[in-house]
Amino acid sequence: MQAAEVTIKGIVQGVGFRPFIHRLVRRYGLNGNIRNTSSGVTMELEGEERAIASFLHALPDEAPTLAVIEEIGSRKIPLRGFETFTIIGSEKQAERNTLISPDIAICRDCEKELRDPSDRRYRYPFINCTNCGPRFTIIEDVPYDRPKTSMKAFPMCPDCEREYHDIENRRYHAQPDCCPVCGPEVFFCDAEGNRLPGDAIVLAREALKAGKIIAVKGIGGFHLVCRCDDPAIAVELRHRKQRDEKPFAVMCRDVNVVRNICALSEDEARILCGARKPIVLLKKRTNDLEHLSENGTIGVMLPYTPLHVLLFGDDIDMLVMTSANLSDTPILKDNAAALEALEGIADGFLLHNRLIQTRCDDSVCWVLEGHEYFARRSRGYVPQPVTTPALSAHLLACGAEQKASFCLGKGEHAFLSQHIGDLKNLETLEHYELQIRHFERLFDIRPEALVCDLHPDYLSTRYAQERAEREGIPLLQVQHHHAHMASCMADNGLKGPCIGLIWDGTGLGTDGTTWGAECLAGDCRSFRRMGSIRPIPLIGGDRAVKEVTRVAFALLREADCDIRGIRNAAMLEKQLAAGLNCPRSSGMGRLFDGVAAILGMKEVCSYEGQAAVLLEAGAGESGRSFPFEMAEEKDGGGNRLLRFDWRPMIRTLVREKENGVPATELASVFMNTLIHMAAEEAAFAAQETGIRQVVLSGGSFQNQYLMRRLPDQLRRRGMEVFHHRRVACSDEGLSLGQLMAAEAMLR
Ligand code: ZN
Ligand code: ZN
Ligand code: FE
Repeated sequence: MQAAEVTIKGIVQGVGFRPFIHRLVRRYGLNGNIRNTSSGVTMELEGEERAIASFLHALPDEAPTLAVIEEIGSRKIPLRGFETFTIIGSEKQAERNTLISPDIAICRDCEKELRDPSDRRYRYPFINCTNCGPRFTIIEDVPYDRPKTSMKAFPMCPDCEREYHDIENRRYHAQPDCCPVCGPEVFFCDAEGNRLPGDAIVLAREALKAGKIIAVKGIGGFHLVCRCDDPAIAVELRHRKQRDEKPFAVMCRDVNVVRNICALSEDEARILCGARKPIVLLKKRTNDLEHLSENGTIGVMLPYTPLHVLLFGDDIDMLVMTSANLSDTPILKDNAAALEALEGIADGFLLHNRLIQTRCDDSVCWVLEGHEYFARRSRGYVPQPVTTPALSAHLLACGAEQKASFCLGKGEHAFLSQHIGDLKNLETLEHYELQIRHFERLFDIRPEALVCDLHPDYLSTRYAQERAEREGIPLLQVQHHHAHMASCMADNGLKGPCIGLIWDGTGLGTDGTTWGAECLAGDCRSFRRMGSIRPIPLIGGDRAVKEVTRVAFALLREADCDIRGIRNAAMLEKQLAAGLNCPRSSGMGRLFDGVAAILGMKEVCSYEGQAAVLLEAGAGESGRSFPFEMAEEKDGGGNRLLRFDWRPMIRTLVREKENGVPATELASVFMNTLIHMAAEEAAFAAQETGIRQVVLSGGSFQNQYLMRRLPDQLRRRGMEVFHHRRVACSDEGLSLGQLMAAEAMLR
């Protein structure tokens, strides 16, 4: 006989963990007890040495779907002679939950019951259990208990109550547990918001089949939903939503439908079908979906709520499912607001009476080396924290602006917010401030210092400044690309020093100019700029970000190429010569924009990053690269800095285009050139500093072409390469880096 104290850290409360342990100790004939702690659970176990070892072995493999085990610690303790296994402490005595589970897609068991005519929850759209259902989006406050959730409006019936208290039951302590007798209900309204008699699901399905556009209330907000097969309906939806070209995501009934339209690897299938159900960007196999996505990929997800399952039935294969929001406002979440805002847009409304406490958009990712690589990390992942080294204070990092997020840090956890959106929109800014307060309450964090970007005009910077002043707490500012670098380091648990290849659209540099294709070296506390690109004049400032022919003109003009093909060349020439509103930017996004325009792929963008996306989609396969030059200069501190001179590349590209080399090949050769440039910069930085670890961050690395090739090039030069795995590479992941940089500065 032996005794051990086992401590488990992670998300192990409110996820069916104690009943799971109860079953497991019985299997191995162990006695002892289990109790909740502020960071997880602690157990005392007694039994045969082999049995304890087997128990510890089985534990992580068999843990409930929603549990996230961060750490298992085990140590020998004296025998006390337990004769049973007990759960210590009621819910009331239990310490406060520190971690909250994300919302999880309907599980197999619940789906089986949903389809079983003899089950009391047959066709009930809110069926859930300890392994599945809403969590984050229904929580009003902590501790996570039914009265502190949207379910407080629905007292449990005796049947549900019995399940809830039975440790042998799949619904033991499942806070959202409910049934048709006691739980929420769905209803269908016409375009004017009149509730129609009849089965809501049947009415919604009829409307969809008839080609109508309907609004569907989901877990974290509303979707606009319609048929996929008729381009005219998609065109109508674009028209009503004023969304000209941005791709729509689709939801497929099951994975076999997905296989018909997309190439699907094993890893992609695993993530698509997993419990978190993000939108996965997949390569299209057919040209029939051009009306839904103009590029080579399409965002696909599977039904993740019982309501979705019922909506598809057995005969609908695929539906457009796009977030219901208007012109960059936050996703709609309340019935009344949706009815008002979607007037003239939705032909019908599938509503329910369970309140969405917290907005949470669908997550979007693609799959790289078997992991999610996020374009947007939200539903299914938030608010799961990133584990960090112990933080010295409670911190709030305020993020960037257009892809806003924030990050709260405490102890060994960094809590990154869900997708927030563009703060320049007033409603989004309100949502941002509200969510900061909500997270602070949920995780009991009272910031002792605030962190923001260097950019004085970001609304996140203003928020941080005002709040720091009001509360009399310190404010730290972190350079944009340094924060990207620190974010990728934290994502990979690296302390540094590292080399950072940080490519994005724009960010304010320490010298007051706009940066965006940077090679940095340093750690979370400080950095040195070691490489960049020749700055590109943006004729008309922000206008050039949209009207990318303006960038094409600037590239051609500076490379001494023929500019006669460009529209308004004379006007642009005049403006450039006068230097009127022509700030220079070393943004990688701008270089992509300009080259895409030269290749005739896009003239005016209708959404952020469109030209770069089309260039990537239009690229073929080529092993070649263009000639380029690296100019050496000295930075302010007299250190060497390499500058990629794109003019020779542009000249060759233009000549080859004139000689009839197809744009598909030129797009690929262009990106190969950037890969070689990056490898050269990193090699230079490694030589200067002796550092061999390279992190890749910034929005430009959402480019799959680069991400599938650049790491190999760097490894070939002896570098160890790290990319994002848990947070987005774009500005959405920036706040995590700000937090870690501030922590390093405070120490
Ligand atoms: Zn379930
Ligand atoms: Zn019930
Ligand atoms: Fe950025």
